[in-house]
Amino acid sequence: MRDTSAIIAAARTVVVLTGAGISAESGVPTFRGPQGLWRKFRPEDLATPEAFERDPRLVWEWYNFRRQCIAECAPNAAHRALARFALARPHVRIITQNVDELHTDAARDAAGTRDAAPAMPLELHGSIFRDRCSMCAFQRENRAPVDTSSLASLPRCEECGALLRPDVVWFGERLVPGVLEEAFEWAGLADLCLVIGTSGVVEPAASIASTTRATGGAVIEINPEETPLTRVATVSIRGTAVGEVGRLLAS
Ligand code: NAD
Ligand code: ZN
Repeated sequence: MRDTSAIIAAARTVVVLTGAGISAESGVPTFRGPQGLWRKFRPEDLATPEAFERDPRLVWEWYNFRRQCIAECAPNAAHRALARFALARPHVRIITQNVDELHTDAARDAAGTRDAAPAMPLELHGSIFRDRCSMCAFQRENRAPVDTSSLASLPRCEECGALLRPDVVWFGERLVPGVLEEAFEWAGLADLCLVIGTSGVVEPAASIASTTRATGGAVIEINPEETPLTRVATVSIRGTAVGEVGRLLAS
């Protein structure tokens, strides 16, 4: 096994790819795994454009529930260590599949009065704390639950009157093109891709790590379990984000 601190010290450009696992120790349930949300709910009933077309109230009820759960969570030591790392080094990009804004909160906390931008994440799958129009480009921040008492009470677009929906990428939907291009550009430039708490089964996020590997960079994976990305990893650390990330970046 190659020495992880030597890999980190030698890397000029670092991409960090995070998934639901990094927020598990903040109390945000993951989708897969023993406590995973998908064990109790069927994603195809709740997180697809077809589901929203069929029953927008049900989908909004689900997002009200998730919004409320996530609003009670705070960044953990792994989010904080990554934010400090991104602020301390010149070429670090945090790319997340999470919609919980915990990297954003950690970036703002770590930056204090400094510019938080270098630690702000590229959100591949959007944010649960934004609504967007189902028809046009309108979007707005929204941390409050929406009124799901009837179809007529659901929030509507200020511009065109169509239904608003959560600004998250659902199953079967394309990612926002500019976001994806930026992610792959960083992945191709990176000397190191740190993969933390992602099951590696949701594309194209999984290909970000393989892109770094294919262009000669190293991949370090932190996950308590083996994943499809373990095969791509230069080093796999079997442990949790809170247990391993701070230690790894401080070494
Ligand atoms: P996933 O739920 O498919 O997989 C979670 C991974 O995290 C698993 O491999 C698991 O072994 C690992 N894990 C569990 N606890 C961990 C810990 N303490 N430390 C490190 N790793 C841990 O998640 P995914 O790969 O991110 O993909 C699922 C999709 O679900 C994403 O698209 C994302 O948008 C969405 N999602 C987001 C959130 C969030 O915003 N926090 C939560 C659930 C799902
Ligand atoms: Zn609209």
